[in-house]
Amino acid sequence: MYKDTNCGEPREATVGSVITVAGWVNRRRDHGNLIFIDLRDRTGLLQVVFNPEHGEKAHDLAHSLRSEWVVQVTGKVVARLPGAGNPDLPTGAVELSVTDLVVLNQSLTPPFEISDDVEVEVNTRLKYRFIDLRRPRMQEILKLRHKVTHIMWDHLTEQGFTQVETPILIKSTPEGARDYVVPSRVHPGDFYALPQSPQQLKQLLMVSGVERYFQIARCFRDEDLRADRQPEHTQLDFEMSFVHQDDVMAVVEDLYTRIVKETTPDAVVNGPFVRLTYAESMERFGTDKPDIRFGMELTTITETAATSDARVFQAVASSGGSIRGFVAPGCGGYGRKQTDNLTDFAKSSGAQGLVFIALDESAPSIEGLEDEHIKSPLKKFLSIDVIKKMATEMGAAPGDLMLIVAGTSKLVNTVLSNLRNEMAKRLEMVDPKNLAFTWVYDFPLFEWDEDLKKYEPAHHVFSAPKPEHMEYLDTDPGKVIGTLWDLVCNGSEMGSGSIRIHDKDLQTRLFNIIGYTEEQISDRFGQLLTAFTYGAPPHGGMGLGLDRFVAMLAGEEAIREVIAFPKTQSAFDPLFEAPSQIEDEQLEDLHIRVVMPKA
Ligand code: ASP
Repeated sequence: MYKDTNCGEPREATVGSVITVAGWVNRRRDHGNLIFIDLRDRTGLLQVVFNPEHGEKAHDLAHSLRSEWVVQVTGKVVARLPGAGNPDLPTGAVELSVTDLVVLNQSLTPPFEISDDVEVEVNTRLKYRFIDLRRPRMQEILKLRHKVTHIMWDHLTEQGFTQVETPILIKSTPEGARDYVVPSRVHPGDFYALPQSPQQLKQLLMVSGVERYFQIARCFRDEDLRADRQPEHTQLDFEMSFVHQDDVMAVVEDLYTRIVKETTPDAVVNGPFVRLTYAESMERFGTDKPDIRFGMELTTITETAATSDARVFQAVASSGGSIRGFVAPGCGGYGRKQTDNLTDFAKSSGAQGLVFIALDESAPSIEGLEDEHIKSPLKKFLSIDVIKKMATEMGAAPGDLMLIVAGTSKLVNTVLSNLRNEMAKRLEMVDPKNLAFTWVYDFPLFEWDEDLKKYEPAHHVFSAPKPEHMEYLDTDPGKVIGTLWDLVCNGSEMGSGSIRIHDKDLQTRLFNIIGYTEEQISDRFGQLLTAFTYGAPPHGGMGLGLDRFVAMLAGEEAIREVIAFPKTQSAFDPLFEAPSQIEDEQLEDLHIRVVMPKA
């Protein structure tokens, strides 16, 4: 070894010992006679002092040291002079008085300083990711991520799970995205697809009798580019036989609570996790990814609003749309600029407009509201009685701001749920240390796709319908509720799961409902259907996004912060410059000709 001690280890108790450390020059201060460097390795920083009286050659050489040079130093651990200690550094009470210095490697001046306090443009960080990762914060995140997966391994092993690796070169495993494909050289014209998730494979493992499977699995989805998406992401993927919904949820609840407690002790996890049906979540929060850390729940006021003289309200109500809103507490004094700003926000979510009714705090009560207490662009179309009724239904008080959107119920929900989150941010209602996990369950099994004019699976096609809804499968598929659920935390989807179909006929019926041809069924799912005819046990499981979970624990917004080598928003890797063209010979081997798109 080049070192017998790590930089972060020496303490007052080790004063007097002679040690050898190795690492990177984090910073150098040259006072001529005395040269100081902060030496950095994965464990921290150590102040190293070159004094010609203790090592003349080392001192001479130390003049040449620069940031990020790699060195090995030997010396004696000494106590710092009184008052010269650094209380911010675990090793701050001591320093290393050097006798020998070996330069192991030099470094160019790095493109940015290795510090958590420097703002660096994302592309530069990704191009020099190997340097970016030297920053203490990034090292901390890599370790956090490791710790999370370590606990997953430990915990699930204790629970009788077996880790099984599944292939990356496989066939289309649909999860609603486009496949990444890999051409086969050996089978000209044929392609592998990278798994969008190991869904079919883990179900096959249940037929194999594994009973409890897990994998920290890479999933590949060629999706449209969106902020904070990565073409490949990591999932904790698991599957269990002989279980019901509650059994699967219990595994996750125990595991996730343990992970938060062991990795992020100052975070607060709710327990037990809140449970909401999909219908309740949509009704109260307008979304299936509710942030339940704050109130401002939505209310439907379609009927009341339609009795007003406001044309917009009448038109929406008579065309079967909905009028809903929520109350921003204490915002009744918002000025024009603030309400305009909220209107712009609502429009950016797709709303035609935002109706607000501000109630002055001087009003004695909702009952006692007078004309002078009310500000609203629709005021002349809303009688005082209608406003009182709306305010009562929405639970508003004097001093509050009522925010109302009218339109199709899908649009209204989208706009209001976004606006609700935005208001919570502006009003600083959320404590990021608070992790509020929520199960959203009883999702509809299918969604109607207006463009394709057909049903699509809400999650994926392997989820089982609730037994009591079987009768609607043929008559009214839109009505069928599935045994499928999401785990949500603080407004983000953390994963999804379901009890699966394990019967060939039922699975085939579902394929038929979503319009797969016989040929597509046998081509894509033949192996699973065949397996189902050889004693498939009842089973269910989940896929939970690791990147999002670690980002949340780390308090990071973007998942690229917790991925060692992420890609940019345009699915590009600036470090390797991938994707890239390949040699003509490689294309020839693969029997592939590239036809570039017209500009
Ligand atoms: N395969 C699903 C997904 O990737 C998760 C699951 O149902 O287990 O979303």
